[in-house]
Amino acid sequence: GLILRQIAKTFGETRVLRGISLDIADGEFVSLVGPSGCGKSTLLRIIAGLEAQSSGEVLIGGEDVTGVRASDRNLSMVFQSYALYPHLTVGENIAVPLRMRQLTAAQRLPVIGSLMPGARARGREIAGAVSEAARTLDIDGLLERKPGQLSGGQRQRVALGRALVREPAAFLLDEPLSNLDAKLRVHTRAEIAELHRQLRATFVYVTHDQVEAMTMSDRIAVMMGGEILQCAAPGVVYDDPEDLRVAEFIGSPK
Ligand code: ATP
Ligand code: MG
Repeated sequence: GLILRQIAKTFGETRVLRGISLDIADGEFVSLVGPSGCGKSTLLRIIAGLEAQSSGEVLIGGEDVTGVRASDRNLSMVFQSYALYPHLTVGENIAVPLRMRQLTAAQRLPVIGSLMPGARARGREIAGAVSEAARTLDIDGLLERKPGQLSGGQRQRVALGRALVREPAAFLLDEPLSNLDAKLRVHTRAEIAELHRQLRATFVYVTHDQVEAMTMSDRIAVMMGGEILQCAAPGVVYDDPEDLRVAEFIGSPK
């Protein structure tokens, strides 16, 4: 599971997170929703290890990962501003996490690596995983291009593809569909939901889209002013908001 204990964060004088506690079970899909600036991305970046919390703890699989580097947390992330490697093709970008995971230190040396037994077979396996992810996200015609030759939505799908080819402890997705047109968004949302069903992986999913949160999540955490006001099943948040602010934000009848 993924456990947050009293996570607080201040930037200079500004308290952005004020003691966030949350227990996310293995395989659970939790959406984070809340107004712009309430601290959703900051929280995700802290879980990922890209930002240090001011206080509190993040536990992944029971282990306190404070001080553990982002690359050693075994998480798969897609951010609002997706970062792709500009010098690599789309296909190579998607393959990056697979290559990182499969190669031992000796194998990272390209010449020795290519001579190691099994290198070819592993290469085919990676190519297979990349083309499957690319087909799913409808970018299989773009694998030879560089990120600079893609639209914003296409780049976002490459970033998603790269996140989805691995089997991490958890997926952290920060508005991964925000740059997609309506049709593609519905399609990709269904693919993510299907992936969740298949992998039973843990997802922490930041979205501005209420429909997305309502339809995909096991639970929705409503954040405001650096706090989680309520975290419960979509129906509960909607029918039985704990607080007027939750009701107003979710737009429920109460
Ligand atoms: P949005 O929905 O617009 O993406 P958010 O909920 O993701 O918003 P954050 O990006 O987490 O919000 O930002 C929370 C607050 O922290 C904002 O007021 C933001 O200006 C501030 N903030 C974020 N990063 C920094 C930083 N590096 N230095 C100072 N302030 C920051
Ligand atoms: Mg954000």
